[in-house]
Amino acid sequence: SQDIAYRVTVAPAAEGHAILTFEDVTEAEQMGQMRRDFVANVSHELRTPLTALLGFIETLRGAARDDPAARDRFLAIMEREAGRMNRLIGDLLQLSRVESEERIRPTERVDLHALITGAVATLRPLAESAGVVVEVTGEPGPLPLPGDADQITQVLVNLIENAVKYGGAGGRVDIHIAREALPRGPGIRVEVADQGEGIDPIHIPRLTERFYRVDGHRSREKGGTGLGLAIVKHIVQRHRGRIRIDSERGKGSTFTFILPET
Ligand code: ADP
Repeated sequence: SQDIAYRVTVAPAAEGHAILTFEDVTEAEQMGQMRRDFVANVSHELRTPLTALLGFIETLRGAARDDPAARDRFLAIMEREAGRMNRLIGDLLQLSRVESEERIRPTERVDLHALITGAVATLRPLAESAGVVVEVTGEPGPLPLPGDADQITQVLVNLIENAVKYGGAGGRVDIHIAREALPRGPGIRVEVADQGEGIDPIHIPRLTERFYRVDGHRSREKGGTGLGLAIVKHIVQRHRGRIRIDSERGKGSTFTFILPET
């Protein structure tokens, strides 16, 4: 049921004849549409906090001028909104970087196990404040593979952060490391599993799209930009790896990625 777009060119040929060329430009049209949607989304996402900031500036100038308590409250909201814009811009830059590097293969070797340990340590305070225990099991280190350390750390941080943010009600996040063969050779699989409420299957295929959220209000409330999983997908692709998302309503979700060892 997808529309197909053609570009038709007519060239005169021998008397009474013409040559018609049909060029399939469906993909180019779709790319153009995606680009327009993306620009519209970014503009909307930036405008929302900006509108709030402008509104509070107005209020601070007027009604709240002589009310220190109100002023502090408004400044705290303004700080949160500015932080949101800052995160969004950071994620946009990161996404554009990993998208443009997609065809470049990482040449350095990193220890995946050490990166997991590091990411877990970074997120420990967030997990603790949410009352979530994070545990790593499975294959011991070192687990060397070709990769970009910062980018793989970003994948881990985004997945663990999501598991704490959206699945944290279950009280625990389990990271399991195992070996799994990829079509072109040996690989290492990392599963990040939460015991939260899970995700309805209809949403799963779209989760890695930019700005796709199951619950926009909840995501924004938790400081989400809607770009985390899009970044994860591009980084894993760049490493010639794979992603899998499994979820069961009421039982939790497991986000898995597999990276080639060679
Ligand atoms: P966000 O910044 O909104 O967290 P992501 O791209 O990281 O953006 O995730 C997209 C959406 O996927 C989230 O808004 C959330 O609805 C859903 N999601 C991601 N991880 C989980 C999880 N572990 N459990 C339930 N839902 C999740």
